[in-house]
Amino acid sequence: MTVEQKVQQLHHYVNGEKVAGKSGNYASVYNPSKGEEIARVPLATREEVSEAIATAKAAFKGWRNTSVGKRVEILHRFRQLLVENEQELTELICTESGKTREDAKGEITRGLESVDMAIAAPQMLKGEYSVNVGGHINAFSRKDALGVVGTIAPFNFPVMVPLAITSMAVAVGNAVILKPSEKVPMSALFLCELWEKAGLPKGVWTVINGGKEAVDELLENKDVQAISFVGSTPIAEYIYATGTKHGKRVAAFGGGKNFMVIMPDADLEQTANAFLGAAYGAASQRCMAISGAIPVGEDTANRFVAILKEKISQLKVGDYQEAGVDFGPVITQQSKDVVIESIERAISESAEVVVDGRDWDIVKESKGFFVGPTLLDHVQPGMHAYEQEVFGPVRIVTRVSTLQEAIDLINAHELGNGVTIFTNNGGAARHFEDEIDVGMVGVNVPIPIPVGYHNFGGFKRSKFGEGHMFGPDQARFFTKTKTISEKWLTADEHATTAFSFPSN
Ligand code: NAD
Repeated sequence: MTVEQKVQQLHHYVNGEKVAGKSGNYASVYNPSKGEEIARVPLATREEVSEAIATAKAAFKGWRNTSVGKRVEILHRFRQLLVENEQELTELICTESGKTREDAKGEITRGLESVDMAIAAPQMLKGEYSVNVGGHINAFSRKDALGVVGTIAPFNFPVMVPLAITSMAVAVGNAVILKPSEKVPMSALFLCELWEKAGLPKGVWTVINGGKEAVDELLENKDVQAISFVGSTPIAEYIYATGTKHGKRVAAFGGGKNFMVIMPDADLEQTANAFLGAAYGAASQRCMAISGAIPVGEDTANRFVAILKEKISQLKVGDYQEAGVDFGPVITQQSKDVVIESIERAISESAEVVVDGRDWDIVKESKGFFVGPTLLDHVQPGMHAYEQEVFGPVRIVTRVSTLQEAIDLINAHELGNGVTIFTNNGGAARHFEDEIDVGMVGVNVPIPIPVGYHNFGGFKRSKFGEGHMFGPDQARFFTKTKTISEKWLTADEHATTAFSFPSN
């Protein structure tokens, strides 16, 4: 069999059917650990997306009128199928993203939390009721589904993010269109099979593959009511501006630059262990990855950097199929080039290279898109490595003298997704919680990603629009509140004419 024959031709999933792409345009999907093309994914035209939206709109009517109990029954079955198919999903995630198996399983587990939360839709949809607000009138508010909603996912969580942005939307009665990342479409297409087996009616869950053209149709089509986007900050900003201009409700989650503040009283050995996993896990391709350490005081910084240097040299970078690998490759050759350029730029801006990820054997010898763990010290505000989210294993150390200096620096950064402080001083931790201008805050927790029943979302340019992922806020985002005032008279009661404004 030739390599050519092994490359899978992928499809869209519309109205419960696999649908071949019509545009003739395809993007390559790689196994980043091997640097090999494994599939080609069709890039939908606006017309193809518009047709998919029409089928979703038709399916919406039946779905919104399906009782919430029946909808949740299907979600229960879907959840069970996710568990039963964990092995296959794990292999798909690892193959198309390069994650380790343990990491992929962790992502599935976190994805299940979103489905669990969606199973609580009956509780989320309970409205408010007031009896006899005036003249036999009862007032109540109810939460109605929006209609067709568009969801757009990034490459770095091929299963967790699609589950996080679609499950609640489906549960509360919307018809959902998912546009997965064209770099990892296979996991999302597998989810279609599970929804189908779970008994979801045709057209309620659609997958349209593509790039900007497909997204633009979702943003502008009048039959799409809301957009939930997860990806990089520049695209999140574009999605928010374009979607809202076309009258849609938009929540757009962007990138992060997440710092770990290390106080002089912290246990540095334990803190370094926490730093390593949170900073380099998944080759640092997480929006909540620790991007840099901010040790407080020269002595803390010197000791912390020395411990990290030793521990980083023992990390194992490689293909997920090898035993004992800590993290794998970045997603594409282009990503690898960008990450390596960021190291070169940091050097030209006088950062001190403590560990150079370009020196790892695998980086030079493998066809996979590997970059070794890199640690840059003495990185200052204004430098590229400080200001930008580097989506690869290049992490920084920025030295400060006081906790207040650390807080001021973090608050001045344009991104505000996650942050954490490592300390044994409760007062310092409480002051940090009070003063820090970041959406998700950890205290001795390296990646403070909230559990599924708490709201997820950053501040500043890490999130555009109102609404959160996960949590009760998501049910609000995917519904509209209708308030009804209702009056029923008995046979012996009479309505009167009133020309004054109604009051109680
Ligand atoms: P990306 O912004 O390049 O792509 C995200 C999605 O947008 C993809 O589906 C892509 O096809 C689409 N897209 C890309 N360019 C577009 C354009 N010009 N117009 C319209 N659509 C476009 O992001 P990525 O590289 O796939 O993912 C990594 C980024 O996502 C990182 O910045 C990471 O921090 C962020 N992220 C954020 C969160 C969060 O919750 N805040 C979670 C995961 C990832």
